Amino acid sequence: VIVAGTFFPAGSSRAIPARASLEGKTLRISDETGAVLVEFPLRQVRASSRLGNVRRRIELPDGSRFETEDNDGIDALFQSGGRYPRGAVLHWLESSYKWVVASVALAALSITLTIMYGLPAAALWLAERTPHRIAVTISEQSLQTLDRLALHRSQLDPADMHKVRILFARISAAGKQGKSGYRLMFRDGGAVGPNAFSLPDGTVIMTDQLYRLVRRDDELEGVFGHEIAHVDRRHALQLAYEGSLLPVAIALITGDASQFGQVATVLPLMLLQSHYSRGFEQQADDDSAVMMRRIGGDPAAMAALLERLDKEICGGKECAPGWLASHPATTERISRLRQEGKSQLPRSR
Ligand SMILES: [Zn+2]
Repeated sequence: VIVAGTFFPAGSSRAIPARASLEGKTLRISDETGAVLVEFPLRQVRASSRLGNVRRRIELPDGSRFETEDNDGIDALFQSGGRYPRGAVLHWLESSYKWVVASVALAALSITLTIMYGLPAAALWLAERTPHRIAVTISEQSLQTLDRLALHRSQLDPADMHKVRILFARISAAGKQGKSGYRLMFRDGGAVGPNAFSLPDGTVIMTDQLYRLVRRDDELEGVFGHEIAHVDRRHALQLAYEGSLLPVAIALITGDASQFGQVATVLPLMLLQSHYSRGFEQQADDDSAVMMRRIGGDPAAMAALLERLDKEICGGKECAPGWLASHPATTERISRLRQEGKSQLPRSR
């Protein structure tokens, strides 16, 4: 490649018509007769950035310079010497509308990803840093709201309650916070129907209607394990925080707990409508299976209860019966739990 231009010797105002060429990795500037004016290794030479059609300037180590309007020639010269002058890539990007379209698409994608992963990640971060006393306050207010709006005093007889408490104690010993970290409360679910849910402070609420559907003890243990897993993984806080990230962040930073009032208002409704994502439900099912194994129970027992709920309440149709509200995923949950049950067999031999 030979590039025509003008040579300006160091410390001189003379302008000499010249040519730049490459000899191996050496840049050679020669005059019109072919006599060599200067020669330098290409890596010691600096080329100005390419900016539209502005003349390019090549600065040489001895203070002399070479200027040309042949932008493409300079780029070709540097590239054949294995170097990319500054600005070349930028120019290439600017001149390619496809890259403009691509970068707009990339920006849109990154905003979507921030919403999909950024918000839940922020909610998890805050949930993990929520002090226990705040979890207690949110839970107490939520339970008050639930009792006012939807739940009634349990009708279970004391003998049944006693039996259920023993089951709850067994499985809660396998939870992260240990036996004393959780408490069970009984309620008549009324229109809420068969349901169980947990509050951030470790309170698990079971409705009488759910109890009446249970046929085996380990079905109930599986349900409690599932609810305890929601507590351990701070799912309720995450769910509530995703809807009110800013007030929660402010409350945690300033220590102004009154900001959590909003959380206590939205949480009960979210719990009643089972707003948990499929991912959260799967995590809770998996954790429950682990806990069931730890106490020597059948991890797949809960699957039978899920199936019964599905059949008796929905009759196989799409419906949202409380604990099953993530209905489209129910069949998947059942087969996952059954899989857990099978994988247990070789270990117990
Ligand atoms: Zn759940």
